[in-house]
Amino acid sequence: MKELLLATNNKGKVGEMRSMLAGVDVTVMGLDDLPSYTEVPETGETFRENARLKAAGYAQQSGRVALADDSGLEVLALAGRPGVYSARYGGDQLGFNEKMQLILTELEETGNADRSAQFVCSVAIAEPSGEIIFEADGFCSGQIARQPRGLGGFGYDPIFEPDGFELTFGELNSAIKHEISHRAAAFRQIIPFLRDFNALRLDQPSLDA
Ligand code: IMP
Repeated sequence: MKELLLATNNKGKVGEMRSMLAGVDVTVMGLDDLPSYTEVPETGETFRENARLKAAGYAQQSGRVALADDSGLEVLALAGRPGVYSARYGGDQLGFNEKMQLILTELEETGNADRSAQFVCSVAIAEPSGEIIFEADGFCSGQIARQPRGLGGFGYDPIFEPDGFELTFGELNSAIKHEISHRAAAFRQIIPFLRDFNALRLDQPSLDA
């Protein structure tokens, strides 16, 4: 059986990735399907580094080909912050409403009228040896809204207006977000790679074999 481990314990991401990989002939597993695992810390300074660390770490632990992603929001006038620290911006104790407020305040304080921003997603695929065999980046450009709007999505979605829309990701239909998102852009590059690769290289024993 051809199995691909999605190296994330975020159930939302597993679902999103599973649907993006629906046209590829692989059985997708999440970390929860492993008997046990040790969390791989995100100690990298770039999205790529973290994606590589997680793909290699979980591939080695599981003995399977593993795909990992790392993503976040970069605000131009804030020199790219929160960037790779998006999930932890302002400290772990801050919820996302406070993190978004922090960004809005910091942006106001710069006095810069430029509200350009982008979501970035780096993905990496590693062999069980830990060797990285594929990497890709996806981007979604837009603007930081004046105030959070909308209840959809997660994280910074309510303050991000993607280019071409006057609605935030929090307000937009999720089907549109999944079409134009940074994650979708990265996954579009992975799919042809996996299609070419999986017949030969993803043949592995299943977990219960
Ligand atoms: P990761 O799970 O380490 O990739 O961290 C992702 C963090 O970046 C999340 O906690 C969010 O703060 C932010 N982020 C990444 N993608 C999105 C998105 O599509 N919408 C909103 N926030 C996102």
